[in-house]
Amino acid sequence: MYKINDNFLKLPGSYLFSTIAKKVREFQEANPDKTVIRLGIGDVTQPLAPAIIEALHTAVDEMAHQDTFHGYAPDLGYEFLRSAIVEGDYRSRGVDIQEDEIFVSDGAKCDCSNIQELFSVDNRIAVCDPVYPVYVDSNVMAGRTGTYDAQTQTWSDVIYMPCTAENQFVPELPKETPDLIYICSPNNPIGSALTKEQLQVWVDYANEKGAVILFDAAYEAYISEEDVPHSIYECEGAKTCAIEMKSFSKNAGFTGMRLGYTVVPKELKQGEASLNAMWARRHGTKYNGAPYIIQKAGAAAYTPEGREQLQKQVAYYMNNASVIKEGLQQAGFEVYGGVNAPYIWLRVPAGMTSWEFFDDLLARANVVGTPGSGFGPSGEGYFRLTAFGTYENTVAAIERIKAL
Ligand code: PLP
Repeated sequence: MYKINDNFLKLPGSYLFSTIAKKVREFQEANPDKTVIRLGIGDVTQPLAPAIIEALHTAVDEMAHQDTFHGYAPDLGYEFLRSAIVEGDYRSRGVDIQEDEIFVSDGAKCDCSNIQELFSVDNRIAVCDPVYPVYVDSNVMAGRTGTYDAQTQTWSDVIYMPCTAENQFVPELPKETPDLIYICSPNNPIGSALTKEQLQVWVDYANEKGAVILFDAAYEAYISEEDVPHSIYECEGAKTCAIEMKSFSKNAGFTGMRLGYTVVPKELKQGEASLNAMWARRHGTKYNGAPYIIQKAGAAAYTPEGREQLQKQVAYYMNNASVIKEGLQQAGFEVYGGVNAPYIWLRVPAGMTSWEFFDDLLARANVVGTPGSGFGPSGEGYFRLTAFGTYENTVAAIERIKAL
């Protein structure tokens, strides 16, 4: 008789977004005349940039002719995209990453959740709290997290690193030693980012302890401050201890197109075992490459026109972030994030939980956000709003909140 991977059964229900959807649905049914503005989920709203659309059209036409048709893509990504990535995201910034250290995929979510397969089940993971839920859940499925305590919403074998206003949202080096350290900067959900100096502390720590940093840079395009690194490899020694994951979702609006990449440096080795070679093997065995037309569209993000258009798109969302941040500050809220990331993290009024604030905001302003407690216990007392809405909706939402 077959046996299931019962680690899946340990996962608590995906309470957060389904509960939000249910509450919004019930509110709409009870109040059909009210227009709800959704600033909850981190999906983009702007259409693809013209340079991307043009590349898509060209690639689609190529698929119609025998001599330019493309079948299976190379496992690790087309050379044209890998070299555009190396040049555009690394060499042009003085970071030495080679083409064969880039692994093109269909997005950062898959890479963030699959990367743990390279490590044995008895490795201990450390995550920031609050955190993008994929890191923990993928390790739960692999059987690496111990038992779940519903009361504290924590796993017994996971090391949690609280990030709150009290420590300026900078994770402190943990007392217990982890083997795998997940860091997301700029951060979802908090909207903060680590400076190069702060990240260097983690790189030094990982090298000293023999740990690996799994660095999620999905929001890199939103960095506006000089001292925030665009890649972990800007830190000295990172190539011997870090894997970096990037996405085209937030910088180029590819949430519905699916494209990302992971960097596994050749220097990253455990004894004789090369993680680069292992990931290449894993990619080659389990993945048949992102589609040609999508990779062509991705390469268009690195052309001069593509870059300019995408910068404008990022600026559009970051203008929303300023509208939210300034509006909430004027309304008397304690507000964080929104400078190097498209997320605003606000402290809910004293005496309220994150969910009570959610209910209140929905009922009185008809605005939907995300309760911080849904991202981890240290998110309690906070609330996330995204800048990914339209400008009009963002302004309207903030006017409603200010009017309360
Ligand atoms: N990493 C973080 C921190 C995210 O917030 C998200 C999406 O919201 C992703 C990864 C997923 O990126 P992708 O769309 O490339 O799968």
